[in-house]
Formats: sequence, structure tokens, C-alpha cells
Amino acid sequence: MRLYLKILCAIVLALPAAWAEESLISRLWATGENTRLVLESKTQLHYSVSDTEDPPHLLLDIQTANAPLDAINQFADIEQPYIRTLHAEQRDPHTLRITFNLAAAIHYRIHRIPPIEQYQHRLVIDITPQTLPEDPLFALLESLQDKESINGKPFLVVVDPGHGGEDPGAVSPNKRYEKNLVLQISQQLADTLNAIPGMQAILTRNDDRFIPLFERVHIAHRLQADAFISIHADSVKSRKARGSSVFILSAKGASTPWARKMAQKANLSDLIGGQTASRSPLLDTALRQFSQDGKDRASRRLATLLLRNLQQVNTVHSPNVEAAGFAVLKSPSIPSVLVETAFISNPQEERKLIDKKFQQQLAKTLADALVQYRNNYHISN
Ligand SMILES: [Zn+2]
Repeated sequence: MRLYLKILCAIVLALPAAWAEESLISRLWATGENTRLVLESKTQLHYSVSDTEDPPHLLLDIQTANAPLDAINQFADIEQPYIRTLHAEQRDPHTLRITFNLAAAIHYRIHRIPPIEQYQHRLVIDITPQTLPEDPLFALLESLQDKESINGKPFLVVVDPGHGGEDPGAVSPNKRYEKNLVLQISQQLADTLNAIPGMQAILTRNDDRFIPLFERVHIAHRLQADAFISIHADSVKSRKARGSSVFILSAKGASTPWARKMAQKANLSDLIGGQTASRSPLLDTALRQFSQDGKDRASRRLATLLLRNLQQVNTVHSPNVEAAGFAVLKSPSIPSVLVETAFISNPQEERKLIDKKFQQQLAKTLADALVQYRNNYHISN
């Protein structure tokens, strides 16, 4: 049975629109319970916001000349339950007005993100309904408990496709995004695991949305997962770099300079994706706790099995399990690993990563390692 963390039937509109002659770029992400409009510009954007009750509108005025109206108006039929339409117009030569025509009461939040990596100045407008839909994790927990009472507790794996939404992850020379490839591989892995008796997989995201790193850890905790596996595909400058690698968390510094660099890159996700909220206290205490409870040993055992199995389908970049300060692995008690499946910067490996057959092989070998871990080391509670 396919069982995913499905927050709502998610409609994702990700239509990047860039005009060479315009400095303003717009992107829209609509995922059921959240609408995010991102405006990107060479210089910092100045704005003001107001609302009207009758008709119910949210008005956003941005100081910019010659805005690419068509690019924004392509999102007009946003089809969110709480936003009917949006409309962009040049109010005067210096003011772009974006009007959100609302269908229900909303909360909104606007924040700026300073330039980082390939991005310039970004203005991010997040809109959520005032009445939030039922917590999807709660429903999921209930369905797991139902299954449990019939068949005993399954070994629950939270599969985490890296990046998503505003954060594309690595980009290949052919402009393929890591976030899309790792979602496909993760879905294959979840399907493979769910077909194995006694195994159960849940995805942290099942579409193109951004999830902050601490939220990914939090999902695994709330579900009381038995293992957490984050799936990535890296890119480096050299097109020759190749091979799979497996990482675990290290509290004592990175195992190699390369592992440190990988963790630094992975940890940028929140800044790239537009997460500005403070970290969870859960994570702040995690590093202090994790080495005391045997979780590091469990993570290393799982990582070792994964690395061994990966050699059946791909060369390995490093023959050892690597360790560094990955934020997404900072779970205090759940064995957590991060798999770099291959380098999308290497044309040969990029071809492999988009190949459905290779994706299936990867999924099978990762699933086998998780089953081996359960059979050999897992103590059911
Ligand atoms: Zn990644």
C-alpha cells in the first residue's frame, strides 16, 4: 500500500519566470495549506502591505518600475481554497501592486532573504488560511496505530527527499534539479519498503515543497520512526567526481574536510529555501544527548549496511561512512543517515540518476539494507 505524508491534496505551481530585460523574477508555490510568492531582484525590494474587508483583498505594493506583469499574472488562477485569484498591475511608474482576492480569512507573513548562492535579494510572501486543516500527521499516526493492532508494529522508516520548493538543491550541467531526482528515488524507496511485510515507509514530502530541516527531524520524532534516511544527489565543480556516499552526524567535527563541506552545503537549505524561523529547542539539545544513548552506534551500523549495499549498484565515492554536522540528522534518538546517491554534476551519473531502472535498483538496495538493519540490530519496543 502506498502511504505517504500527504498534507493535503497538494497543487504545486512552480513556474519560474525570468525576463532577460527585467530585473524582477517571480515564483509561486501553492501547496494546499500554504501559498508562497517569491519576488527576486538585483536590489532590495521596498514594499508596503494593506488589506480591505469589502471586498476581501490583500494588497501588496512594491517599489519597482516596469514589473513583468504577465509573469506574475500567469499565477492568476491560483485555485487555493482561501485565495480566489491574484492580479498584478503597474499602479504608477514606480509601484507594482499585487492584489490577492481572498475567499477566507488568512494570515500572512512577509520576509526578506539576503542574497545567497545563486539567488539575489528575495522578498517572500507566505499566506496561510486562518483555520488550518486537520493536522495530517495526526491522521497518519492513527492509521499506523490501526495497522499495528492488526499486524504488530512495523519497522517505520521516514524517507526524506532532500530540498524542495524554493530550494532546488544541486543543479546539473543540463539544468536538472536535485530536488526532483531525489523525490523520484525516495518515492521508489518508499514503494519498495511498503511492499515488504513488516516494513513501513513515510515520506517527509511527496511533492515539490520546501520543508525546513528541523521540521523533517520533527516529523520522524512525532511518528516515532525506527530509522530516518535523507536522500540527496550532489554536485561539485569537477565533472569527474563520482560515486555514492553515506553520512552520519558527528558531534566531534567532520571525518574529512570533504564531509564538512557536504554538511555545510546541506545545512544551507533553510537559508536557500526561505526558512527564517528559529530552530527547534529539540535540535539544540540533540547534539549533547545523542552520543549518550547509543543512537550514533545505530546510525553507523545502518550507514555501513547502506554503503555496502550501494556498491552493488554504483561505485562508492568514499569507502568509509563519513560523519559531519548535518542538521537534518540531529535527531536525539532515531538512527539517522544521509545518502548521496551519486553526483549529478557527472554526466554519466546524471544519466543514471534519471534512469528509472537505476532508480529502482537504488531503491531496492537501500531497502535491503534497511531490512538487514531491522533483522540484525533493531530491538522492538
Ligand atoms: Zn542535497
